[in-house]
This record gives sequence, C-alpha cells and structure tokens, in this order.
Amino acid sequence: MRTAKKRNRKTSSSDRNFKRYFEKKFLSTVRKYKLLSKKDKIAVAFSGGKDSSVALYVTVKYFPNVTAIAIDEGIPGYREETLEYARKFCREHKIKLAEYSFRKEFGMELPEIIRKTGGRPCTTCGVLRRWLLNKKLSGYDKVVTGHNMDDEAEAVLMNLIKANLEEQAKLGPVSGARRHRNFTPRVKPLYLLREEEIIRYAHLVGIRVLKKSCPYRKKAFRLSIRKELAKLEKEMPGIKLQIIKSHLKALPKIRAYFSSSAGFSHCKTCGQPSANRKCRACMIIEKINN
Ligand code: SF4
Ligand code: ZN
Repeated sequence: MRTAKKRNRKTSSSDRNFKRYFEKKFLSTVRKYKLLSKKDKIAVAFSGGKDSSVALYVTVKYFPNVTAIAIDEGIPGYREETLEYARKFCREHKIKLAEYSFRKEFGMELPEIIRKTGGRPCTTCGVLRRWLLNKKLSGYDKVVTGHNMDDEAEAVLMNLIKANLEEQAKLGPVSGARRHRNFTPRVKPLYLLREEEIIRYAHLVGIRVLKKSCPYRKKAFRLSIRKELAKLEKEMPGIKLQIIKSHLKALPKIRAYFSSSAGFSHCKTCGQPSANRKCRACMIIEKINN
C-alpha cells in the first residue's frame, strides 16, 4: 500500500515536471522565433483534434486575445464529431469560437467538390481551407496552428522527394516564404514538440484524444512517409529533430531565392497572395461554379 502511494506521488511529480517542461518549450519556441506577443490579436486554427486542442489550450493560458476558428469541410463520419468536441471544449474553457463552412462558402461540401472538380481530397481540402481561413482572418495578427515536430519532419521529407522547393520554403516555425499584406502569418508554437509529448500533455490536462481520423487520410502520401519515418526514428532516435534542424539551416537561402524570384503578387480574382494571375483556390471555385 505504502509502495503504491509512493509510486503515485512519484508519477504525479513527474507529470508536473513534464507539464512544466512542455509549457516552457512552447514559450521558448514562441520567444526564439518571435511567434506571438501579448498585444497580438490571435486566431487558433482549431479542428478539435489533439494538436490544435493542445495549441489552443496553451495559447489561451499565456496570451490574452485568442479566438478559436473552426472550419467544417463537410467530411462525413468525421467532421461532425470533431466539431462537436470543438464546441464543447470552447464552452468549457470559455473560449470564443468562430465557425465557417465549405457548404456556406462554396455551396457544397468536400466530397461533392472532389466529385465535381476531379481534384485530390487533401490537396483540394488544404487549398480551400487555407483560402477560407485567410479570407476570414484579415483582422488578426497571427494564426496559430497545431503542427508539431513529426508533421514538420514529414513535410520536409515529402517536399524533398517531390523536389518541391517552393513548398519547402513555406515550412518553418512561421509559415510562408514571403510576407504579404493580404496574408495573416501562420505560426507553429508546437514546432519543437513531438507527437508523443503532445499526447501525454493532452492526457494530463484532460484533453480528449479522438481516435477517429479523416477517412481521406489513408489515401495520403504523407501516411507512407509517416510510417517510414517512425521506423527510422526507432533505429536512429532524434532523426526527426535532425531533419528539422537541417531544414532550418537551409531555410534562409531557399526563402531568399523565392522572395527574390519575379512574379509573386496576388490573385487578380480574389486578391490573396499567389504566384500566378489566378490562385489555386479560385481555379477550384471556378470549376465548382461551372
Ligand atoms: Fe482535409 Fe486531407 Fe486533412 Fe482530411 S486528411 S482534413 S481531407 S487535408
Ligand atoms: Zn484567388
């Protein structure tokens, strides 16, 4: 009995230390990369999943002016549950929640959009979601996203395999290769935290980790990269951090190249940043309306 009590005490003190470590890492990442300030009007892109829930929870704990933003893409058997959780989470933590939907904005939901346009689910979803977020967030100084170290290492590898340097230039603790007056900077305070650390923190502060994942996810190329990277991390612990560090080293040069390359301006249809006369979202919207 006494041993069990002792073990419990030990566990809770290690939990307290872990929470302290986690929040310190969050704050030091914010400071190191100048991600947020107390004066900022902050939006948190909130899906109801563990990463964005943790990002929202810690941002609200340390910054005063925070609104959660949820987007309903209309993904059947998935988004209803995460949205319901997002609403409950915001009610319980007294956080302002603004909701937008593909149906309201584009007249139809993701499955119908894919059928009509022939686009890939994740590409279409990502392009439209980013466009919608950008459109609705012009009054905010920063948008916090829940990307963690695992996400970032996967993205770096994916871009390398596809030789997609332009996308590579957009990665990093502050997304985007260039600043643009019509683009609210996306910042990633969980950038240096691993997925397993986020899960542990979520459990400790009572954030539900939903088991369900998006039905389109299995079709994503990212999943294969994730599996391979997990294997590599087991064989060579720290490889994900090493990928991030290598990327950060190369980033200034890649960004310098893309910020000096000609042609970057804005979409002539919607005014959002785009390298072409018409942005990818406007091309999809055109197909939707035809
Ligand atoms: Fe959208 Fe793909 Fe993410 Fe599903 S997995 S929410 S389709 S980007
Ligand atoms: Zn456009």
